[in-house]
Amino acid sequence: MKLLEYEAKQLLAVSGIPVPKSYIAEASPQFLPVVLKSQVSVGGRGKAGGVRKVSSPAEYTAALQELLQLSIKGFTPKKLLAEEVVTINRELYLSVIVDKTAAEIQLMAHTNGGVEVEENKADEFFRTTLSASNISSVGERLADYFDLASKSFALQDMVQQLYECFVKNDALLIEINPLIITNDGGLVAGDCKMACDDAAAYRHAEWNFEAGESNASFVTLDQNGEVATIANGAGLAMATVDAVKQAGLSPANFLDVGGGANEASVLAAFQKIMEYPNIKVIVINIFAGITRCDEVAKAIIAAKAHITNLPPLSIRLAGTNFEQAAELLQAQSILTLATLEDCIQHAKEHAA
Ligand code: GDP
Ligand code: MN
Repeated sequence: MKLLEYEAKQLLAVSGIPVPKSYIAEASPQFLPVVLKSQVSVGGRGKAGGVRKVSSPAEYTAALQELLQLSIKGFTPKKLLAEEVVTINRELYLSVIVDKTAAEIQLMAHTNGGVEVEENKADEFFRTTLSASNISSVGERLADYFDLASKSFALQDMVQQLYECFVKNDALLIEINPLIITNDGGLVAGDCKMACDDAAAYRHAEWNFEAGESNASFVTLDQNGEVATIANGAGLAMATVDAVKQAGLSPANFLDVGGGANEASVLAAFQKIMEYPNIKVIVINIFAGITRCDEVAKAIIAAKAHITNLPPLSIRLAGTNFEQAAELLQAQSILTLATLEDCIQHAKEHAA
């Protein structure tokens, strides 16, 4: 599952990595000036206007209202993070990932961090395996690469803390971008993206993240497809795609949200689907066993509330807690259908 920036930064701070002083923005500011940052789990917030510096109480109030309504790739935030303003001397890139092929933890770095990081070529990154046996030399090598000889010890501390944070939290990714070198020479994590392994949830009673994304299987079939699908179980997901196709419509994706899908994982599915440009209708076909229909219903209701331009939904739910789900959806006047055939018929009407 993906964490929101403020959640990820809390975990960094626990491991001793410097992050800007901050608070969750409420009606009145705790201190000013601050940088207000939209807490959505998609990238590119800076470019979309989701990161704003404010100095006066009036600016704060205005920006608060605007940012809470600003949709970024289809998502509006529930929270804004207010951070002390950091003076930037350099913006670097630092991340730790699981390399599944090599069965290793890898550290990646780039001298060119910040909002243009996608422009960096894959083969330009500094890469090294991180393991208990080699970690003690990584700080110095990084200092060399960044041309920051005087920061060798600070970088070594940070690498060690990052590694600890990564392992302790069963992370799959921790990306600090930008890693800021401040004007007075400090190192601060300016932004952080973090994802943790759902399979490890059983040993993390403390996990209570907002923007979870589960280990669903998501496959894009046609980027320009008109019908998106959300189903659970690989068999049902394939049958759903087939039914869409048979009706003469073009399915954009295959999605098995997985057994035990919950509100967060279904909401994450909507998030991915919103990145397709031509979706006219979303077919939701859930046969709930471990999964609970009421959780799926809550995700549908949250999606309606928080995703702007959500296409029409063609919903069929059956199984565990169906009655509760039907009640929740009915209260919001959201239509459910009895069979997959009905869903496809409904989808045809909207895709035409
Ligand atoms: P992203 O666009 O979603 O990756 O959001 P980031 O948190 O990385 O912010 C985007 C950019 O805003 C950063 O690369 C910085 O250049 C800038 N920024 C963020 N916080 C501060 C700050 O405290 N001071 C200054 N001067 N710039 C900031
Ligand atoms: Mn960033």
